[in-house]
Amino acid sequence: MDEIKIDKFLRSRRRTVGIEITREAKLVVRAPRHVSQEDIENIIIKRRNWILEKQKFFQRRKSAYPDRKFIDGESFYFLGSVFRLRVITEGALQLTDCLELPERLLAGARENIILWYKARAGEKIRERVEYFSKITDLPYASIRISGSRTRLGSCSLKRRLNFSWRLVMAPLEIIDYVAVHELIHLKEMNHSRRFWDKVRAVLPDYKDRRAGLKDNQWFYSLD
Ligand SMILES: [Zn+2]
Repeated sequence: MDEIKIDKFLRSRRRTVGIEITREAKLVVRAPRHVSQEDIENIIIKRRNWILEKQKFFQRRKSAYPDRKFIDGESFYFLGSVFRLRVITEGALQLTDCLELPERLLAGARENIILWYKARAGEKIRERVEYFSKITDLPYASIRISGSRTRLGSCSLKRRLNFSWRLVMAPLEIIDYVAVHELIHLKEMNHSRRFWDKVRAVLPDYKDRRAGLKDNQWFYSLD
């Protein structure tokens, strides 16, 4: 059995033991003062599979997407294609055959590129949701673009739809799948058979599209 190493241990005034895996795949444990070392070890043993799985996930992500340096040639995903970064002396942050980043935005490169993605996500996702809303006859109240890493799409009882800007890195067929999925939830607030039947009626190949989401490492390529 692999030994599990605690990278950071903190005693705090919290009431329960908290276990966190950071994006650097480090294990951070926070415990109330009264909990013994032995109890903590037992909790870790109990959650060992979860810890190892999560660490593996973050390690894989890190090796696939090393830290960004924002230099010429780095890859950025947009609608499922890869674009290289090109630092230009002046002009606007825009997509041509490359993702062009003017020098003056280099200092806040990550934030600026995320803003660019958010704007593109707003346009693209709105356009697709609007299209499917019409053909399904399912009206929605509003669309909000979030930065969620774990929820690419969600909807509320008030018919508000949320989509993560990260979705715009994905191919159109995946964006469409998420758009249709959330729209159908406006009628079926569950994942029942009826729900999937309705998804299938719009996207007969929804299973293939959904499978594309499983290999979704690219969502984290700007973390
Ligand atoms: Zn759902």
